[in-house]
Amino acid sequence: MTTRVGRRPRSSLAGLVVALVAAAGCVVGGVSEPEGQQPAPQRPDTPASPGAAQTRADGTTSVEEFQQDVADAKTIAERYWAAQFQASGERFRPIRRVIPYQRAGEVSCGGQALPRNNAVYCSAGDFIAYDVNWSVGAFRQVGDAFVFYLLGHEYAHGIQARLGIRYSYTIQQELQADCMAGAYLGDSVRSKALRLDDGDLEEFREGLLAVGDAPDQPWFAEGAHGTAEQRTESFFRGYERSLGACDLT
Ligand SMILES: [Zn+2]
Repeated sequence: MTTRVGRRPRSSLAGLVVALVAAAGCVVGGVSEPEGQQPAPQRPDTPASPGAAQTRADGTTSVEEFQQDVADAKTIAERYWAAQFQASGERFRPIRRVIPYQRAGEVSCGGQALPRNNAVYCSAGDFIAYDVNWSVGAFRQVGDAFVFYLLGHEYAHGIQARLGIRYSYTIQQELQADCMAGAYLGDSVRSKALRLDDGDLEEFREGLLAVGDAPDQPWFAEGAHGTAEQRTESFFRGYERSLGACDLT
């Protein structure tokens, strides 16, 4: 993945994916919760930070590179959504902060301690928070494209909050966020804000495969995100057809 804001060309080996569990409940703090109800605790069902054994061998896996990719993804998402809002005559407020954390409970959202192995958008504080060790593990395992997807997905939850979009089922909220993440990436590639390297599309597929719900997860379950197939379909629908395919109106 190469960005205008970052300058490093990146080679992309296909990463080996073991069970990454992304964002078991990745909107917290009000967006998907009824008024007055405490958000359900998040349930990463498999602790899954990949170990060093899975580190990709192309030398592009340092924490510094990861942090640069997070910063680049945030910049691109901000510019993208600012342009979308401006085109609709709306004022855009960027998400307030992106907060890395290392320990369970180090960051709270609306009184709820965030667990390890997760990434969330917190509407109560209007911030994105992610377990840095888990995220770096995923970055090493899947590749840099995963970082752009993950940030884009959480950013999309912030956009849903701004637009007042609240579906009855988390799966609808989550699949729409995947579509919006696809749109921000596809449109950014088309506008040349972002250039994909060989293998990046495959990295998106691998990342989405890794973050799909278990096959026995009921679609209506609290916290359901969608199967790997559903998430992949939503992401690439947005990626190929832009926001018009994401049911934002
Ligand atoms: Zn989500």
